[in-house]
Amino acid sequence: MDCLFCKIAAGEIPSKTVYEDAEILAFYDIEPQAPVHVLVIPKEHIPSVDGITAENSEVVAHIFETIPKIAAKLGLSGGYRVISNCGADAGQTVPHLHFHILGGKPLSLHMA
Ligand code: AMP
Ligand code: ZN
Repeated sequence: MDCLFCKIAAGEIPSKTVYEDAEILAFYDIEPQAPVHVLVIPKEHIPSVDGITAENSEVVAHIFETIPKIAAKLGLSGGYRVISNCGADAGQTVPHLHFHILGGKPLSLHMA
């Protein structure tokens, strides 16, 4: 499949890994929007939050169980934000489920 994050998960396109196990990968965003900006993805292709089902949600739970460990590793003791853009109106640009971890400074409260 011609999917950028599937290729990153497969190691076909290089990324700066923060955390990896059999099911998920965390790597630095190429265009950081905050002092710390990391993406967490399932290695399995799920297009977006809209693609989460009872059959594949175990990996999503695993991502959320692991995010606090990744945040601690990144030194985000002051807090952080987790975002997933779903679809065109949210500005999703890569159609492979990913969660942004943003932090490293007090973040502004823009919601829209
Ligand atoms: P979204 O706009 O929510 O779909 O997020 C996609 C994110 O992927 C953006 O923040 C991009 O900067 C990031 N991105 C795109 N290509 C790469 C890449 N090759 N390595 C790391 N991050 C990337
Ligand atoms: Zn994919």
